Amino acid sequence: MIIKISNLSQGEHNFVFEDKVDYLDLDKPFYGKYKSFVILNKLHDQLILSVTSDFKVKYECDRCGTEFKSGLKSDYKMIYLMNEEPEETDSINVSYLNRDADKIDIKSDVREFALISVPMKKLCKEDCKGLCYKCGKDLNKEQCTCSTEEIDPRWKPLMNLKDKLNLN
Ligand SMILES: [Zn+2]
Ligand SMILES: [Zn+2]
Repeated sequence: MIIKISNLSQGEHNFVFEDKVDYLDLDKPFYGKYKSFVILNKLHDQLILSVTSDFKVKYECDRCGTEFKSGLKSDYKMIYLMNEEPEETDSINVSYLNRDADKIDIKSDVREFALISVPMKKLCKEDCKGLCYKCGKDLNKEQCTCSTEEIDPRWKPLMNLKDKLNLN
């Protein structure tokens, strides 16, 4: 994912990259092809990049375990400063370029930001009902009878008492 910068005029430039995720050394949950859209703004001594990438992902639902496909968008901005002497920076969004650099490679950044955008929580749908913790049935597909039989634990002492009274 190399962008030649040596002959770029000042102003905005657009680039599109398309490849298989293998190229980025990404595997699960990523699969198939991805597409990255780059807007590059060249100023006097800096380049400002806005990169949006569209990925295809296959997740396993955290609640019901069903595998489902989804799309994943990953955005990031990177500022490349042309500097003789690279300064120390803590910002992950600033890179330093040698004045005579003629190209930039955005591959590792696209990969890095793709990994960051994988959500912690993965649900097949917002209101996934999950599996019954007793019988293991997928409650999205069918309602089992366990939940209706379940007794509110606060009533248990009372139920025990009732049993005892019935014995007498
Ligand atoms: Zn689910
Ligand atoms: Zn059940």
